[in-house]
Amino acid sequence: MTGSSVQSPVWHPFTQHALEPAMKRIIRTDGAWLFDEAGSAILDAISSWWVITHGHRHPRIMEAIRNACDAYDQIIFAEFTHEPAEELARGLLAIAPAGLAHVFYSDSGSTCVEVALKMALGFFHNSGAPRSRIVVMEHSYHGDTVGTMSAGARGVFNAAYESLLFSVDRLPFPEPGQEQNTLDAFEALCRSGQVAALLIEPLVLGAGGMRMYPASVLAELKRIAGQHHTLLIADEVMTGWGRTGTLFACNQGDVMPDILCTSKGLTGGALPLAATLCSPEIFDAHLSTDRSRTFFHSSSYTANPIACAAGLANLAVWKDEPVLDRIQSLQTLHQQRLKRFAEDPRFSNVRQAGTIAALDLNVPASGYLSNVGPKLRAFFRSRNLLIRPLGNVIYLMTPYCIDEAGLDCAYNGIDEAADIFAGTR
Ligand SMILES: *Cc1c(COP(=O)(O)O)cnc(C)c1O
Repeated sequence: MTGSSVQSPVWHPFTQHALEPAMKRIIRTDGAWLFDEAGSAILDAISSWWVITHGHRHPRIMEAIRNACDAYDQIIFAEFTHEPAEELARGLLAIAPAGLAHVFYSDSGSTCVEVALKMALGFFHNSGAPRSRIVVMEHSYHGDTVGTMSAGARGVFNAAYESLLFSVDRLPFPEPGQEQNTLDAFEALCRSGQVAALLIEPLVLGAGGMRMYPASVLAELKRIAGQHHTLLIADEVMTGWGRTGTLFACNQGDVMPDILCTSKGLTGGALPLAATLCSPEIFDAHLSTDRSRTFFHSSSYTANPIACAAGLANLAVWKDEPVLDRIQSLQTLHQQRLKRFAEDPRFSNVRQAGTIAALDLNVPASGYLSNVGPKLRAFFRSRNLLIRPLGNVIYLMTPYCIDEAGLDCAYNGIDEAADIFAGTR
């Protein structure tokens, strides 16, 4: 297909325009649903790339956005501050794992992880004992900027940029029964005294295929990090805001990260906003009358007041509505529905973490570029289901407001898809 046959000038993310049909135009969203021009309702079973937590256009969040528009647009965030950012920072620290004391705003998951990496290296640099290594887990994903690509799994996604990526040390994923290998590998790396931080997605590696591991491993990693004065950076960009069954995934192992990254669900998914929370030690290492110790990071839209107001409304929803009960019910609904696939020869690794359900479709060739992913996606779309498998990994990560009928549509679609695609190439 040549460029001239492309109808729209818009270049879409993670999209091969030569292979994809025209983009479907959405004219409205509501709850767990997207509505297109033709009047079809499409079930948003992946929460619009994992950002929508409560549901699309939660009334309280939308109202807060409308109200904020009466007072604010963007305001430079150096020299100045504003109430939405101040109040949101205090609110975040009040509910985040203990030990975090400062909030640095940015505008996406990738940027809040970049900020975290810079904080970690800056901490050791300013402490006079620089450390240069970052440890990550294999199959991890931390974003698509050059820094976060460096930390994430390498593959076809970043092959073209390989020459720009910095090297990191990778821990084997803690497969069931192999957890000790992961811990031993981390301990061995830490002994060099050069590891600034372990950057990790707690409990669930999202884009790497919804790979799940127990909280006990996370807690052990934190313990080892502590022994070697290595910082733990929890990338809760996807796992935060109830996805794994608790507000943050770190809550499950009672893990206190030194740095916590949050974005996607921070505004309930309504507006782009991110925050990097850090311990007092990290802030203090940058606090000095010597200007060279400043934390040199800014983005134009730091702490956008309207986005912060949406974040505040999200906190209010968490405080005033039974969000955790909703999550608990959704968790149970998934459990019941996953049972029917547990012994199903068409699937393996049927698994769940809180509101995330995943299963691997048994096909001869797996991996992201195996053709099965796009074929499944097209099939789901023909059933008005927005489900985007990661290779042969089919997962559901719906908004919390989804009802039983909606969830049944998704599971019936998966069942039907397996009849067509399992065991085929
Ligand atoms: C999505 C994601 C990111 C990147 O967030 P963007 O807002 O897309 O930049 C980083 N880390 C994790 C764990 C994610 O799931």
